[in-house]
Amino acid sequence: MGYIKPQTEELVGSYPVCGQCGAKSIVRDAWTKWNSSTREWVLKALFDEYACDKCGERNTPEWKLDQEFRKKRICRLNDEM
Ligand SMILES: [Zn+2]
Repeated sequence: MGYIKPQTEELVGSYPVCGQCGAKSIVRDAWTKWNSSTREWVLKALFDEYACDKCGERNTPEWKLDQEFRKKRICRLNDEM
């Protein structure tokens, strides 16, 4: 039994950027479903295809970690306990 290091994208404070140009404007393929009660589209499924909304590159994004956000979020969660 050993420690399994989590992927960056699983950590609090992570965010995707374009692997080509570094933009934070990443979009992802998804399905939405019409909700007759709320009269709006709601997310139904996310797919594995990503694209950059800035340069149009279709690739797998790189995941970065916002250390300052992560630190503040963890402090806030600790304070709540
Ligand atoms: Zn890009």
